[in-house]
Amino acid sequence: MNLDRKPRILIIYTGGTIGMIEDSETATLKPFDFTHLIDNVPKIKKLNFDIENVSLTPPIDSSDMDPAHWVQIAKTIEEHYLIFDGFVVLHGTDTMAYTASALSFMLENLSKPVIITGSQLPIGEVRTDGEENLITALQIAAAVNSQGSPMVQEVAILFENYLWRGNRSTKMSADNFNAFKSNNYPPLAKIGLGIHFNEEALFRLPNRDRRLKVHYDLDSDVMFIDLFPGLTEATLRHQLSTPGIKGIVLKTYGAGNGPTAGWFTDAIREAVNRGIVILNVTQCVNGGVHKIYAAGDSLAASGAISGHDITAEAAITKMMHLLGLDYSIAEIRRNFDHSLCGEVTV
Ligand code: ASP
Repeated sequence: MNLDRKPRILIIYTGGTIGMIEDSETATLKPFDFTHLIDNVPKIKKLNFDIENVSLTPPIDSSDMDPAHWVQIAKTIEEHYLIFDGFVVLHGTDTMAYTASALSFMLENLSKPVIITGSQLPIGEVRTDGEENLITALQIAAAVNSQGSPMVQEVAILFENYLWRGNRSTKMSADNFNAFKSNNYPPLAKIGLGIHFNEEALFRLPNRDRRLKVHYDLDSDVMFIDLFPGLTEATLRHQLSTPGIKGIVLKTYGAGNGPTAGWFTDAIREAVNRGIVILNVTQCVNGGVHKIYAAGDSLAASGAISGHDITAEAAITKMMHLLGLDYSIAEIRRNFDHSLCGEVTV
């Protein structure tokens, strides 16, 4: 990065609480335009950055986020990649961890910062967390190391006091300003009086000269199945027979355990034999799938792949990405067994 000029940052505004205003008729929050948002952050001018912006039209509540929006965001980044030093994506918190995970897989060889942020209170509110989050995200997107290279070279979520790896993040709170956490990975930076980067935790490509390669094909024929005591064979078989389904993220107990009953393991084995990819992830917020119990081993013997310590958000978006690449089942299995961009510890 050239240090002799102002950092160039592109803000991609997708919507979310940060830019919302209250609808007087329904007394609910609705997304509003970027001009309203930026007018509420006059301090931004104090940053000596060249900042430009692009908006989703219309901006959305992130509950409406879908892969077509991820394609738009990735395309915007690709089209502006060489001109800008970093990208700040403003996004609702509800599906932020899914977007962060999806973008991490779509943007292969990313070596510039893509910092996603939003807020719990709209930017126009007196106690908003949006102003601070936006300013800090811009500073992180512009930060360089002692060699002048971008400090962050991956998709990350900045929220209140922490910067987290995007594909390791989960929304933990609907109320707290510290709304996100990586339960299986340390923070990339802590934000207090200063921004303190945890350089050892930051993702680095083995070769920074590789060109950005954007993968636009995501296959949505995927689903979650959540285990619970009382799940019946009929319900499970119905879910496993969903028409067109190609990949299932199975949320299991503890270290990746499921019922040992024959009807359960038979139903899983039959689905795997029909060519459905089944990934075993834990329902626990911390830790991962390990071969400890017979209850987990029988699931593996039925053909379910271990998701190790991957988050549910990264698991489902990685599944969409790998299916979108038209990989064979063997290739998909292999890819779930290693990290593409820091999403899993194997
Ligand atoms: N429903 C909002 C959204 O995800 C919540 C938020 O932004 O915090 O867009």
